[in-house]
Amino acid sequence: MRQLWVQLSLAFAGVVIISALLLGVVGDLGARAEANRFANNLIFANNGIIAELTTHFDDGGTVEDAIQIIREAERELRQLSVRVSFQLLNDNNRVIMGQIQSRDNFSEVTFEQDGETVATLRYEVNREARPPRGDPNRPQNEPNQQPPPNEENNQIALIAIIGSIVGIGGGIFMSRQLTKPLAQLASTARQFGARDFSTRSAITGTQEVREVALAFNQMADAIQESETLRNNLIADTAHELRTPLSVMKGNLRAIIDDVYPLSKTEIMHLYEQTRHLSRLVNDLHELALADAHELTLHLSATDVTTLLNEVADVFAPVAEADNISLITDFRDPLPTVMLDAGRIRQVIHNILVNALRYTPENGTVTIRAFEGASSVIIEIEDTGSGIPEEHLKHIFERLYRVDSSRDRESGGTGLGLAIGKAIIEAHKGQVTVNSQVTTPSGTCFRITLPIT
Ligand code: ADP
Repeated sequence: MRQLWVQLSLAFAGVVIISALLLGVVGDLGARAEANRFANNLIFANNGIIAELTTHFDDGGTVEDAIQIIREAERELRQLSVRVSFQLLNDNNRVIMGQIQSRDNFSEVTFEQDGETVATLRYEVNREARPPRGDPNRPQNEPNQQPPPNEENNQIALIAIIGSIVGIGGGIFMSRQLTKPLAQLASTARQFGARDFSTRSAITGTQEVREVALAFNQMADAIQESETLRNNLIADTAHELRTPLSVMKGNLRAIIDDVYPLSKTEIMHLYEQTRHLSRLVNDLHELALADAHELTLHLSATDVTTLLNEVADVFAPVAEADNISLITDFRDPLPTVMLDAGRIRQVIHNILVNALRYTPENGTVTIRAFEGASSVIIEIEDTGSGIPEEHLKHIFERLYRVDSSRDRESGGTGLGLAIGKAIIEAHKGQVTVNSQVTTPSGTCFRITLPIT
């Protein structure tokens, strides 16, 4: 009963039955109206009873003789299957013949002699009255060709029953057709739920069902993609953790086997690996928080120029040591922005570390800031090696490095830009990158932070 196709079938059946009933009622009303019209035609026709009684009374006939005329007319009408009840009243309005069933649903005609009413004829058309086919004024001795009323009723009932059966059968068939794609979709969803991520629903059925199937397939694509990313991330993370661990394991084994001396230099090596491990674990934790939208931001009105100057001051000695010019370029006085200064500093810090790392001696790293359309824009541009085009679109992905072994050796986790992007997006901002590997090569990261 709770199945959609059963409910649709019941609805179809209900509509068919109501239509059949309405058809019966409308047909009956029409038949009755037709019967009344036909009976009235017979009664008022040239040779009809009214004309006959008018001539009778005009010729001075009596009310008693009129009874004969009425009886004769009744008989003739009955032969034509038209049942009309007549009632004759005399000049004192006393009933002298016949009976009328209804109190108010009858018609009456009065007859006069010398200006005085001598008789009144009341008549009422019986509801089973049915007009025969053809002209109502045809000769009355002609045999009646009309099938008896009951037989005609039976025919109508039979047609209604056959129509209802065909209608209900069609309704059940259509309901099944409508709900079949939904059943298929449900089975696909169950299969998908059982971790068969490659399964997709067939796009069939009505427009609405097709749209649901399409939306399901789009959702399945997204889930499959994120599942692939998740699997890759687990594999990459395991790989990242394995590398420093194997270095430590190898070094420790070598110290135990007296291959390496237990010197401060060796312990420093091991210490560096633990630092790298803990940086990796912390970065992964940050990303997990960003994914769960749990990255807490301590927002406060911040002067971006001051913040950037502070970061530049920290990096000035490093740049100087590498013989790189670190330039700040703050053209306009910038408005204060609501941001988490600590986290934005962390993002700029990471971009600057990279910029200085990939910029050769005598190169330049510029920190630029200016006001955009309802935003503050920060740019960090270097004259370094640049990022090849094919890597550029992956640069914000987790654990992505352009040159894995070299970048790992230089201490990078491959998570810095991914975390930076998550932090900027948590501020409802954007981070983009432009880079060129041909001379003049260089990379420019642009951060857009909304002012409101
Ligand atoms: P990492 O911690 O390894 O530096 P990031 O996510 O910060 O990871 O950067 C990802 C990769 O992007 C880096 O390994 C490096 O290959 C490339 N990269 C980032 N910034 C620059 C830059 N300014 N110039 C050249 N390559 C860069």
